[in-house]
Amino acid sequence: MYGGVAGEAGRPVPLCRFFRINCTGEVNNMIVNMSEKATEQEITHVIERIREAGYQPHVTRGVERTIVAAVGSGRRHEIEALQVAPGVDTVVAIAQPFKLVSRQVRPERSVVEINGVRIGGPEVVVIAGPCSVESREQLLDTAHAVRQAGASMLRGGAYKPRTSPYDFQGLGLEALKILSEAREQTGLPVVTEVMSTEDVDVICEHVDMLQVGARNMQNFALLRRLATVNRPILLKRGPSATVKEWLLAAEYLLSGGNQQVVLCERGIKTFETEMRNTFDLAAVALARDLSHLPVIADPSHGTGKQSLIAAVSRAAVAVGADGLIIEVHPCPERALSDGPQSLDFAGFEKVMRALREPLRPTAVPRVAALSAQS
Ligand code: PEP
Ligand code: MN
Repeated sequence: MYGGVAGEAGRPVPLCRFFRINCTGEVNNMIVNMSEKATEQEITHVIERIREAGYQPHVTRGVERTIVAAVGSGRRHEIEALQVAPGVDTVVAIAQPFKLVSRQVRPERSVVEINGVRIGGPEVVVIAGPCSVESREQLLDTAHAVRQAGASMLRGGAYKPRTSPYDFQGLGLEALKILSEAREQTGLPVVTEVMSTEDVDVICEHVDMLQVGARNMQNFALLRRLATVNRPILLKRGPSATVKEWLLAAEYLLSGGNQQVVLCERGIKTFETEMRNTFDLAAVALARDLSHLPVIADPSHGTGKQSLIAAVSRAAVAVGADGLIIEVHPCPERALSDGPQSLDFAGFEKVMRALREPLRPTAVPRVAALSAQS
């Protein structure tokens, strides 16, 4: 970014200052922080000026103040000049390549509501159900069991992204109908994966939330289409995606008009071979630091092992996860997909109980304990 041109005091000067190029592809985007006392008229004026300067205005109304982001590419100096417009507090550049998902644009946390279930609020939301919908009986039994154990939402795959074309590919429309019946019976909102733009409409007719699977995180045609639907999206992190790439994938949804996005960490590829993936615990905390969007954890795909679900679920909640998505099957050994990581009903109840256990107490330093006695 810095070229060999000496500036004042011999310091290098960014080449973009001379050539008026956008060196990083991100410096052009700005936010206008309105003052707490800004009037509606002043806010409208700023929005109009941003449009005139060639940018897209995105308004975030917080409890205390309004922030107007200027996104896209336009005449930056015209936005900088808004510094002196009435009602404006500060004008600053957006530091990250993702804009609308960043906390700079929206410092308050977002809550995504899925038919009465709020993800991103004070409570941890548990979504549970089988990897794949295999039959009416299998799904309805699971739906009732996970509800009984305390889950707030139901999951179940209808269209499955399988590594081998010879593996079970999902029941498609039949599964969607079963999911819809399960929602009617239990009242649990339902989430299912969408793999193709062709299936978006029929899936929206049957379920409450659409999941973008890890393999499709960068399917930009799918993301653009999902940006236009009136359904919340669960966006899984790709197994080889950086946190920045994941947040940029979410930016496709927000910039296209869908603000209802929940991020999901589900493990990444590393050199580890004992687990299916390596669950990236810190990424849950990092994504919540960088973004206002709710972040949930998937310990099932994150580990691939029944025995690790309770521990990783507790750890994810400890680092701030807003929810968990856990695979549950009436008989994991007979599951048509992801049996080794699926819990049976009793195992799931145990995990729900483990989530209520407090963390272990921190040891009191010995010196402090001795001085307390004396
Ligand atoms: C799933 O949820 O069953 C699934 C296939 O997840 P992922 O996209 O994270 O592999
Ligand atoms: Mn699965």
